[in-house]
Amino acid sequence: MEKWRAADRLLKFSSRFASAVNWNNSCKSKQGKYFYSVATTVHRNPLFSSISPDDISYFKTILGERGVVQDALALDAANTDWMGKYRGSSKLLLQPKNTEEVSQILKYCNSRRLAVVPQGGNTGLVGGSVPVFDEVIINVGLMRNILSFDKVSGVLVCEAGCILENLISFLDDEGFIMPLDLGAKGSCQIGGNVSTNAGGLRLLRYGSLHGSVLGLEAVLANGTVLDMLGTLRKDNTGYDLKHLFIGSEGSLGIVTKVSILTPPKLSSVNIAFLACEDYTSCQKLLLEAKKKLGGILSAFEFLDSDAMSLVSSTTFLGTENHGREVIKDKYGQDFTCIDLRALPLEFWENLEAFLLHSVESGLVANGVLAQDINQASSFWHIREGLPEALMKAGAVYKYDLSLPLEKMYDLVEEMRVQIGPAATVVAYGHLGDGNLHLNISAPAYDDNILAKIEPFVYEWTSKNRGSISAEHGLGLMKAAKIHYSKSPETVQVMASIKKLLDPNGILNPYKVLPSSLFSQN
Ligand code: FAD
Repeated sequence: MEKWRAADRLLKFSSRFASAVNWNNSCKSKQGKYFYSVATTVHRNPLFSSISPDDISYFKTILGERGVVQDALALDAANTDWMGKYRGSSKLLLQPKNTEEVSQILKYCNSRRLAVVPQGGNTGLVGGSVPVFDEVIINVGLMRNILSFDKVSGVLVCEAGCILENLISFLDDEGFIMPLDLGAKGSCQIGGNVSTNAGGLRLLRYGSLHGSVLGLEAVLANGTVLDMLGTLRKDNTGYDLKHLFIGSEGSLGIVTKVSILTPPKLSSVNIAFLACEDYTSCQKLLLEAKKKLGGILSAFEFLDSDAMSLVSSTTFLGTENHGREVIKDKYGQDFTCIDLRALPLEFWENLEAFLLHSVESGLVANGVLAQDINQASSFWHIREGLPEALMKAGAVYKYDLSLPLEKMYDLVEEMRVQIGPAATVVAYGHLGDGNLHLNISAPAYDDNILAKIEPFVYEWTSKNRGSISAEHGLGLMKAAKIHYSKSPETVQVMASIKKLLDPNGILNPYKVLPSSLFSQN
């Protein structure tokens, strides 16, 4: 087992990646240019009103001075998305403290035809969380109470503004874990997670939020509060409407409370960081891991050699980045192809037997097995740090795709040919879920590069029966592209639901569905 002995140095990072980053401060585009990666031009709906002094006075009577934010710096941050790629020009940010205030705000906005954008932690990656024009921003971040936790059932009920990392810490103290974990946990809110149906790093083991969210409370555009905050695992009384709000990206209502099923904490956690000679070996290794490790496998992530080079060359983890050195030492100079790792694995014997077999059969070329929790989290941060490393490298075109596993890496290779030397194609993702994060990294945003990527990437995905959004949603970026993944009939039904629940179209306009469907509004 010499091969799996961890390096002698202990890996210590000064702070957790997610909480070290101030998302709002990192929103400025380095190029000083705000860029919409949409070929379709979006026009402001002329039927929407603009904010007046009377509106401001009304909101102050409901929320008080503190809940009505007009400060230029705060608005600049709330108008700009995490990538610094999408930027609105809203003059107003509202911060309600309870469901009743959300209801009053929406009722008023609906009557005045004031368009609104629900915003959580503003970590979304498809331009869904920021205004396109002057929409009013509503952030439920002050609604951050944990309402109840039942240790027997594992059901947590909380307000939508709770930060994911705070929920993770709370549950950790109780001996439980969130079924959801993602790199933006230090900023994203559970309401945002539910509204995007975020996938993240634990989906392989615990499934999607459509399974673990047991209930929620949401406020409709006209102010009606829908109490669907059940805590039951089984409830077949009519249509299960909560599912409409999971993944609807704030286009059908504002989520104000969430009830979620949480599993008990794992007794131990291990990570192996492995190198395979090629993508085919990665796929075979996944199959082996599923067969040999079964239920103890929590995640199976991968990053290719360009992703590994990027994360190795950036200094975002600080000068004491021992984790990077350990991986480099182990892999040497001829590190190639695709790495992947599995986390967490409860039983050392199973894991060691699996790794030994994988090496002997040639599926794994090299690798490291974390020897303690510090090493485990350091290895994990290498994968989690990729979005930030890409941001540091310059402009990035991000695509979040679901593809049949056997086809997934073909797209990466074809994209490299398509793009040529103008940009670097960096691939990583949740291999265990068939989810590829395809990133095209360039020194600066350039329409010529975009023209090489789109519509090629969408056509390729559609032709291979994939989804153009695996977990990030459609937002503004892909609203007009939905037909690559959904039939015209399905999109029409979606538009009918939107018109039923939000007849004036005030909730997150221009997002999720093509604006052309609502031109009669
Ligand atoms: P926001 O970004 O503020 O909003 C996202 C969407 O939800 C918007 O359309 C917004 O209008 C709507 N919304 C927000 N709050 C509400 C509410 N209370 N009611 C109704 N609508 C609302 N995503 C993944 O799925 N998996 C990952 O592994 C992952 N990793 C990431 C890593 C990094 C470093 C970053 C920056 C992002 C990552 N993301 C990932 C994307 C993002 O973090 C998720 O989409 C997250 O769920 C968004 O939550 P948020 O609170 O930031 O929502």
